[in-house]
Parts: sequence; C-alpha cells; structure tokens
Amino acid sequence: MDHYTFQVGRRRGARERCWEAALPAALLSDGGRGVISPLPPLREDARWQGALRRIRGGWQLQGGCRFWLRRECSRCLQPFWWSLSLVVEREFLTADLEEGEDPLISATGEVDLIDLLREEVWLSWRQFVVCSDGCPGMAVRAAPPESERPDAHPFAALAQLQLNGKD
Ligand SMILES: [Zn+2]
Repeated sequence: MDHYTFQVGRRRGARERCWEAALPAALLSDGGRGVISPLPPLREDARWQGALRRIRGGWQLQGGCRFWLRRECSRCLQPFWWSLSLVVEREFLTADLEEGEDPLISATGEVDLIDLLREEVWLSWRQFVVCSDGCPGMAVRAAPPESERPDAHPFAALAQLQLNGKD
C-alpha cells in the first residue's frame, strides 16, 4: 500500500488526522489499480482535503474533493469537462469491519482513498449532463442536411437548362 491509504482497522495503526493530498489524475483513471472501476480521463489532478476522527465504535471520515471529468454532452454530443464537487462523510465502525464485508477495507484494516473517492464519484454520477446551460443541442450545431441547401434542389439544374433553351 502507498500513502493514499489510511488505517481504520487496528487500534495501534489508526490515528486521528487532518490532511490534504494531491490525487494524480493518472491514478484515479488507472484500470490496473484498486477494486472500484476507474474514472474517465480527468483534466487535472484532484485535491483531497479531509479529516479522520475517532467516534463511538469506530472512525469517521469527512472531507471534500473536486473532479473535472471527461464527459459527452447529452444535448450536443460534444466532449466537455464535467465538474463534480464531492462532499464525503463515511463511518467505519469496528463491529462492521470484523464482518469483513466492506470491499474498500483490506484485511489489515486499510482504506484506499483513491478507491473510496472513485466509489463516491460513481454514487454521484448523473446520466444527463450538458456542456453549458445554454447548450443549443444538435440542431443548431450540425450542418443542414444536403436536401435543404438551395443549390442542391433537384430542379435547379433543370431550370438552368430551360433558361438556356430560350436564348
Ligand atoms: Zn452541449
């Protein structure tokens, strides 16, 4: 494990802490890491700010993080950077840890912050996203179909021939 992990399982290893960490974009979208599906490409590294505190029966994690994720606009279908601000609040109760049911917590009681934030992103995922409030959608951005262009009218060539014939 690396310095993106924190300990909630063991009394000796776990400690209260307040910390900030740069989370590399490459790690967040690295499919070879962790147990939670990787994120789409990110515009920049994310920055975590949070605190781990002891509560009755376990630990509580509170913090926040902002992501700029590559998405496709649901209206105009153009790619854009979707901004997502997460507010994280999780409890890790010792009684639950002993059951071993949370896949985010390793056998040694460590939690991977990268995986945890990925999960939070997927929980906050929205299917319908737009590049801007005023996005005009497909109709305005796309070129008009060929049949609507004046010079492509099927009778245009014919009209030209008739004019020539009158000369
Ligand atoms: Zn759009």
